[in-house]
Amino acid sequence: MDSLPPSSPLKPTHRSGWAAWLLPQDAKRRLRTEQTAVAGLFSIASIGFLQYAGWAGYASQLAVQLWSLVTLGGSAGFFLAIRSGWSERFKDPSLTIAQMVYAISACAMAYMHTGPVRGALVTLLMVVMMFGMFALSTRRVLAVGLFALAVFALAMTVSAYRQPQVAPAAVEWGHFIMLALAMPAVAVLAERLKRLRRRLQDQKRELRQALDEIHQMATHDSLTGLVNRRCLDELLKKEIRRSARSGARLCLALIDLDHFKRINDQHGHACGDEVLRAFARDVGQKVRITDALGRWGGEEFVLLMPDVDLPRARAGAERLRRELEQLAIVHGTTTIHVTLSAGVVELQDGETAEALVNRADQALYEAKSRGRNTVLAR
Ligand code: GH3
Ligand code: MG
Ligand code: MG
Repeated sequence: MDSLPPSSPLKPTHRSGWAAWLLPQDAKRRLRTEQTAVAGLFSIASIGFLQYAGWAGYASQLAVQLWSLVTLGGSAGFFLAIRSGWSERFKDPSLTIAQMVYAISACAMAYMHTGPVRGALVTLLMVVMMFGMFALSTRRVLAVGLFALAVFALAMTVSAYRQPQVAPAAVEWGHFIMLALAMPAVAVLAERLKRLRRRLQDQKRELRQALDEIHQMATHDSLTGLVNRRCLDELLKKEIRRSARSGARLCLALIDLDHFKRINDQHGHACGDEVLRAFARDVGQKVRITDALGRWGGEEFVLLMPDVDLPRARAGAERLRRELEQLAIVHGTTTIHVTLSAGVVELQDGETAEALVNRADQALYEAKSRGRNTVLAR
């Protein structure tokens, strides 16, 4: 996880004191806990409302205190179940439906006990539905909405029977009709939210794909698929820094295909391209996993060999030379044989990337002058 930037949302954040106790380190569990805490704060606010109704004389003290206890206990229970990770055994570890059913039932109970201010509970119910809109599918929002309608219909009927002067049937019908009309609107909004979320997810995925493609294009050569010069430059500088830090060895081979111009001239440019591809594909495959082969430009390649001394690096380049020598490259009806020359060098103390490549170029030049198909280490 070292490669994650310090501000990454997935990187565990280190809090201290009560915040560390309240919020878990695991990113997903933390998010769920935060959401449940927000719902809990909302429950506390509604307890405030009930206390107000009791203080104003609209609700009996017993009902208010009982309701406050049940609501506080429920909120604390959900918070602990989610904070502790216990809820993770369920398909929806946020326990969204359970939390909504609990809150809706609590709203309906409060509705029956708050006399003339009970209408405020309908607003509270809509807030509970809004919590669900963000987390549930439209079908589930509708199902929970139907449950809410049923529970409130019951609470309204009981109110109308028990206290007809406080809760006349006509008023209860009015409340119920308004609720019944609001539920489809909630479902429509839930559906729109779901589409919005899906579109965001699609865009995020497309953006990630585009970034991957751009990264691939910026670091790789399109003809051979090998890493390009820009990437090699970076790798080389990184390896030089590593070597300066740890004293690790680093070798580099500059490879050039022999008489490549002739191939183009005799067989055409497309054939030359196929030779470059075949070299990258068939010979590149033989490179050690810790080494990096890239296209330096034209028919020149660089082989970076960390943690090896000059004789072993020379042997590595020599292996590639033999592989290519034996490779029969087929293009259409023509079969071509190509050879390579290489200059191999080992990084010296304090040497720059440029100086190292220059020395490899000189060694390559000498390999060419010795008759080509030669690896020369110095
Ligand atoms: P030497 O053995 O001295 O290296 O001779 P050479 O012919 O390989 O060297 P020279 O530098 O004279 O020619 C390199 C040729 O490589 C010239 C250029 O047209 C060709 N070349 C460079 N890039 C590409 C490419 O992407 N595709 C093809 N087909 N040819 C390329
Ligand atoms: Mg060349
Ligand atoms: Mg050449």
